[in-house]
Amino acid sequence: MGDVVRLLYDAPGVKPDQGADRHIAADYPHPGIYRGQGGRGKGKRTMSQKAVLKIDEGEIERVLTTAGKVEPARIREVLKKAVDAKGLQPEEVAILTGVSDPDLLGELFATAKHIKEGIYGRRLVIFAPLYISNLCSNECLYCAFRARNKDLNRRALSQELIAREVEALVDQGHKRVLLVAGESYPKEGFSYILNSIDTIYGIKRGNGEVRRVNANIAPLTLEEFKQLKKKKIGTYQLFQETYHRKTYSKMHLGGRKKDYDWRISAMHRAMEADIDDVGIGVLFGLFDWRFEILAMLQHIRNLEECFGVGPHTISVPRLEPATGSDLASQPPKPVSDVEFRKLVAILRLAVPYTGIIMSTRETANIRRETFALGVSQISAGSRTNPGGYSEKEVAEASQFSLGDHRTLDEVVRDVASMGYIPSFCTACYRLGRTGRDFMDLAKPGEIKSHCDPNALSTFLEYLQDYASPATHETGEKLIGAVLGEMGEKERAISEKMLQAVKAGKRDVFI
Ligand code: SAM
Ligand code: SF4
Repeated sequence: MGDVVRLLYDAPGVKPDQGADRHIAADYPHPGIYRGQGGRGKGKRTMSQKAVLKIDEGEIERVLTTAGKVEPARIREVLKKAVDAKGLQPEEVAILTGVSDPDLLGELFATAKHIKEGIYGRRLVIFAPLYISNLCSNECLYCAFRARNKDLNRRALSQELIAREVEALVDQGHKRVLLVAGESYPKEGFSYILNSIDTIYGIKRGNGEVRRVNANIAPLTLEEFKQLKKKKIGTYQLFQETYHRKTYSKMHLGGRKKDYDWRISAMHRAMEADIDDVGIGVLFGLFDWRFEILAMLQHIRNLEECFGVGPHTISVPRLEPATGSDLASQPPKPVSDVEFRKLVAILRLAVPYTGIIMSTRETANIRRETFALGVSQISAGSRTNPGGYSEKEVAEASQFSLGDHRTLDEVVRDVASMGYIPSFCTACYRLGRTGRDFMDLAKPGEIKSHCDPNALSTFLEYLQDYASPATHETGEKLIGAVLGEMGEKERAISEKMLQAVKAGKRDVFI
């Protein structure tokens, strides 16, 4: 194994927590391109074959320029191809980014809806972020947690306070949480994260518990990823923010996050450590969204080539106002609402089997509009300040402003009244249907026959244990309607599971 490659994988010499300026540029030379040599989708490669991705910016610009203005017939050809749910080539994606004619836009949205319904049905998986700390040694210009922001109330929650937060979330009915933290840990270093996961899984309240912890934390070394894996996390999530190297440098002025390569290689280390559910994302508003989605596709293809499986989810955060950040209120490359809907729809067509996550950064209306275009997971009732669920709102400790302030119960009722099934299912990850195994099931559309019954049983669990009377009523009607539309076999399985939940059984899944 070449030294440089090894260094990128495990950055030896960098202790898990070396404080503000544990920047690794001094610890390893930047290697440039290390492209993988193995065949496409041939499964895991040996370490020496692993690629450290370099986004080919020239190629993206070429593809975008070539796409230019195209005839409606060519656009319709691409949409027709997309219906097969086999994904799209960069040239085809570039063509769709240029669609502006209202009729064609309508056709693009209709195609996205068709694919979303075919693969994900009407399920929307629900989760809540859990901010455990806003300590951070990085200087990301758009974020309230950045090191030099003096207007922020800083804190890392103790394990006791994390437990209070989890109790508050569990008492609302949440089953999935996304652990979030800034890039600086209290005294115990990286163990703080590991201990926090133990705390979260350790809370039991009546019928309630967190059944899946996902994590959105700074890039780790290979060794740290292995420790994270042992804690049974679901998805490891990390956003590249922008794939455009020059813009990345302008936005990240201090701390380890300055290092673009350390960040873009994080998913390779995670997968190498056997965390095969990873979630990628872009912070939209920093650079041209068209470039970003084409670059994201390169990242996805690279993971597929190296590991035989791409990311489990894509997040599409848009820049929101944040205290102490002028840039957050004035995005350098704002993405309009129409463009935002378009980019969600294009992603649905380009990578049909990758979940799309929509957070409460967006307003209730935008969220509603994007459900039909391809979103498969949403957060609800979120707080972005540590302590936000169990304590009264702590002023000026939040990461950014939210667009949707509704409670979980309100979101669930709204979603159900639109005909979507709010799902609290965590079955796949607990049955080991992750990474490639999940994709193998998902690709022929088989996952639906597991997911629909699981969504219904976990939804009924929520209705029985936590819902307000109005939500209960809306939810029961929806369950009846969904059962009525199911095939005979699936309905029989679902009814049996629902009976078990009605009889008091919990955590019923197949
Ligand atoms: N500190 C880690 C990191 O930066 O990767 C993980 C947690 S960070 C709190 C999670 C994400 O919040 C970032 O990746 C970034 O995309 C997003 N974020 C930061 N500032 C934001 C803002 N003003 N509006 C919307 N999203 C923001
Ligand atoms: Fe820190 Fe993450 Fe915010 Fe950057 S985005 S300042 S790394 S919390």
